[in-house]
Amino acid sequence: MSAMPDPTGATQGLRGGAFLFGETEDLFSPEQFDADSRLMVETAYSFCKKEVLPVLDRLDAQEDGLMESLVRKACELGFAACEAPERCGGLGLTKSLATRILEALSLNGSFSTTFGVHAGIAQSPIVLFGSDALREKYLPHLLSGEWMGAYALSEPNSGSDALSLQTKAERTADGYRLTGTKMWISNAKWAQTFIVFARTNEGVTAFVVERSFPGVTVGPEEHKMGLKGSSTARLELEGALVPEENLLYVEGEGHRVAFNALNLGRFKLAAMALGPARAALHHAAQYAKQRKQFGRPISEFGLIREKLARCAAMFYAAESMLYRTGGIVDHAFQQVDDAAPDRAEKYRRAAEECAIEASIGKVFATETLALCADEALQIHGGYGFTEEFPVARIYRDARVTRIYEGTNEINRIFVATRLTKKGVFQQLLDCEATDECHDLFLRSVRAAWETMGENLISDQQICARLSDMAMNLYAVQSAAVRATQATGPQGEFGRACAALWREQAGVALAAAAAEVFGRCGKAGEPVSLSSSGGKDVDAIATAVLESDGYPIL
Ligand SMILES: Cc1cc2nc3c(=O)[nH]c(=O)nc-3n(C[C@H](O)[C@H](O)[C@H](O)COP(=O)(O)OP(=O)(O)OC[C@H]3O[C@@H](n4cnc5c(N)ncnc54)[C@H](O)[C@@H]3O)c2cc1C
Repeated sequence: MSAMPDPTGATQGLRGGAFLFGETEDLFSPEQFDADSRLMVETAYSFCKKEVLPVLDRLDAQEDGLMESLVRKACELGFAACEAPERCGGLGLTKSLATRILEALSLNGSFSTTFGVHAGIAQSPIVLFGSDALREKYLPHLLSGEWMGAYALSEPNSGSDALSLQTKAERTADGYRLTGTKMWISNAKWAQTFIVFARTNEGVTAFVVERSFPGVTVGPEEHKMGLKGSSTARLELEGALVPEENLLYVEGEGHRVAFNALNLGRFKLAAMALGPARAALHHAAQYAKQRKQFGRPISEFGLIREKLARCAAMFYAAESMLYRTGGIVDHAFQQVDDAAPDRAEKYRRAAEECAIEASIGKVFATETLALCADEALQIHGGYGFTEEFPVARIYRDARVTRIYEGTNEINRIFVATRLTKKGVFQQLLDCEATDECHDLFLRSVRAAWETMGENLISDQQICARLSDMAMNLYAVQSAAVRATQATGPQGEFGRACAALWREQAGVALAAAAAEVFGRCGKAGEPVSLSSSGGKDVDAIATAVLESDGYPIL
């Protein structure tokens, strides 16, 4: 294996981006959670099954007080305080464990979004970038669930191009006056605090804005196609008065607050996508066993078994990527002393460490959810297309996960752009391949770099194909290494999933490489990868059917 340079230019010793160089050491996986951690995950899972799933129709109707009471109950169990440092009143758990707990709470999209935003991007800017005074003022209310939080970056004319935001923050004698409209704000109906991004003379700046501040109002609910139980509305700031001490981090450096909250947010969003994907697989397996056609349960048909197996294999790969990233994030955050005066700077660098893994993890997990929701509906046939069965809701709720926290297009462009600008593609030119998938990726990078150099970022198709290859490489590696580490039935299931996923990813990698070579005038380059012929389908489908869904929690 080649020596691994510091690929993202982050603090020495941290490991974001290492997978691109074939590095697979110290890979964290869900099997490594200890018994106490598992108990917490099971408690979260059982909370979601017992408290949330029975009231989905009432949640979607936005019954008064219901969502707030569920979020408060989850907070009383400590779920919103998992990862905040103990110094701030949190439990100081690892981000991997907090994320596994979030995944277990995420069987329904509306609850997941509401709770995930509250415990995530609405809180992390205060934990990472807030002064001691701001932490003391707001975290006790947010961690306990007494208050709900929201994150307000998007505007009517600024979505993907988030830094073109128009909300203004003008200086007053003792603070700022904010004017503008924030759009699509999750939790707006219920939140008492909003992390708001506005433009001062120095540039984009982050503030904590209370609902009760003069000049703050919330618009009516958007009529959405899914996530009907979650609140999404505009936040109107009409000369809203915000005290000076509510500025987060540094004036003009709010983009760092915004993007690092989103780095962690995307890492979490992968877990929030796996929750409903797990629910979809559960319903698909149950229905396939019970529904008979041609005198047999449809679970006996090869094409139904193949759907279940492919969904489970992709889920396994997504889950392997997510918790491997969790290990990287934890490693980075463990280097930071929360009591140090420069903690915000160190937290910023720690959050940047996982930027690439978080983006590809978000894209991959939300596309895993898309596959699982779609195939679960297909397995239900016509019944899946009605509201009488739970998969229609999962299908509708799933769609937005490919849009928010950076669309999947923007995340694909971001990965290729970052790897170009940080000089990583250039470093990869001398890297030795560790296996045939890695070899195909490296040869594609070389073809693109030799033909276009840094200009490759102006070719969005090349960018997207290279990002897809990086994503599939991470997925294949993470699933394969995790499977070899695991023992017993979980190990067997994992090895079958990793092998099937390697088949699927091999096809995607070869197609992406062929396109890169073609666009770079190297159409003759070989792209085929070895194949084992999908022999693992039956073993995986049997495990999914026997467990009534994805078998690992
Ligand atoms: C239910 C819901 C909840 C949300 N919650 C929040 C929240 O709590 N806080 C918040 O701040 N925001 C929130 N958002 C906003 C969300 O983050 C944005 O919708 C998202 O970033 C996309 O922005 P947009 O909708 O303006 O689409 P646009 O940016 O207009 O994009 C439209 C299309 O063009 C593509 N596109 C745009 N630029 C490029 C490019 N350079 N290259 C290639 N393709 C491009 C996009 O991928 C997309 O397909 C939420 C949105 C929804 C729907």
